[in-house]
Amino acid sequence: MIYFQSLTQEELAELLVPVSQVRPRTGEAPEAADKRSRKRAELRAQQIFHWVYQRYVVEWDGMTDLSKDLREWLKQNVTIFRLNERISRQAMDGTHKFLWDLADNKTIESVIIPAALQEKQSLDDTPSDPTGEASAAPQKASTRTLTPSQFAGRKVEADLESDHWSRLTACISSQVGCAMACKFCLTGVQGLDRHLEVHEIVTQVHELRMRAPITNIVFMGMGEPLHNVDNVIKACKILLDQDGMNFSKRKVTVSTSGLVPAIEKLGANVDVSLAISLNASTDEQRSQIMPVNKKWNIETLMNTCRNFPLGPHRRITFEYVMLGGFNDTVEDALRVAKLVRGIPSKVNLIPFNEHPGADFRRPTDEAVRKFQRVLLDRNITATVRISRGRDILAACGQLRSIFGTARGTEKHQDWKPLPVLQASVEVGADTAP
Ligand code: SAH
Ligand code: SF4
Repeated sequence: MIYFQSLTQEELAELLVPVSQVRPRTGEAPEAADKRSRKRAELRAQQIFHWVYQRYVVEWDGMTDLSKDLREWLKQNVTIFRLNERISRQAMDGTHKFLWDLADNKTIESVIIPAALQEKQSLDDTPSDPTGEASAAPQKASTRTLTPSQFAGRKVEADLESDHWSRLTACISSQVGCAMACKFCLTGVQGLDRHLEVHEIVTQVHELRMRAPITNIVFMGMGEPLHNVDNVIKACKILLDQDGMNFSKRKVTVSTSGLVPAIEKLGANVDVSLAISLNASTDEQRSQIMPVNKKWNIETLMNTCRNFPLGPHRRITFEYVMLGGFNDTVEDALRVAKLVRGIPSKVNLIPFNEHPGADFRRPTDEAVRKFQRVLLDRNITATVRISRGRDILAACGQLRSIFGTARGTEKHQDWKPLPVLQASVEVGADTAP
């Protein structure tokens, strides 16, 4: 059985050619009839893409304009894959987290992150906005943005279908676990279980789209997407298909810890946005928390970024997880400013999201502010990511840990959910300087 979501439109058409044969017209050359058969298969593939990805019909029998014979053939040969939702939880800030069961009883997670509070605007972009909380995205005039004061202290039952959100970002997984073993990351602690197949990646987005009008995708859930680069490239192609989910290349972002050859492969094969988890300002520091740095150091990584094929007005995002007392000084910020110089880029500062058993702590607000200021003063776009969904442990790998579906080290074995944080505390910690 073939999974529909593992196929590009071209591959589906190819598959349908033998069952889309037309009868040759009198006097028609066999090549011409073949061409018509192929055209028919292509049209059918396009129709099916529309049905599944744009009209959310997930039963072959629901595709009423396909012939009965074709539907029967599809039923026998192609499965429209579904992910079973084991748990879905919404945090007070509207972040919605999903834990999915896979066929082999493993689990993965995806998160929907509404944009109203997604990123704190960089200071220089909003001189007239004293709260600094305007979204980094251009707002539609009709879009209502919740400010922290509106939001603080009360539960937001975010109606994902409503137009409250200027963006709904789906954060999806690319592997079960992760092999990269970054010291600060809960998924890293769990180790790699297996890669996700193309259909398992694509279907996360499809399932979420059936529940909410997702506008953006980030590969920032579990796993290192570029360790599974072939499947991720193909999944991206399917997500970008205009007859399918039709995501814009600017709105699909692959985040990587820095697998250099795979970054090059990604750039050569599909046009999506790139985010690099830099997370340190020197090799010594980076190698301590990210073993991948021993293979491809900062200089190699930065050179690869310089050569990455970026379209006009496109930028690479450098993510920088700020670990209190480890990589959060003004000297670090000065070094980061130097490193990214000359690369069309922005820096996204992510205050470390603490989890039980973690060896690191969250940086102080003061340290985050100073770090951001150093970058902004050097004309580098720098945003601070508001921690989202902490009351449901929405960071990397955390939901899975609570519900005991992850492997873990002894230290991390009996996690309990963190107490629910008051939204006001959360937002206050991240309000603009
Ligand atoms: N493997 C990819 C994508 C998934 S991780 C990568 O590393 O880029 C997505 C982002 O979450 C990365 O930037 C990572 O550095 C960050 N991250 C992981 N654990 C975190 C934590 N506990 N607090 C804050 N950010 C974290
Ligand atoms: Fe893997 Fe990314 Fe976590 Fe590192 S930060 S262990 S690469 S998921």
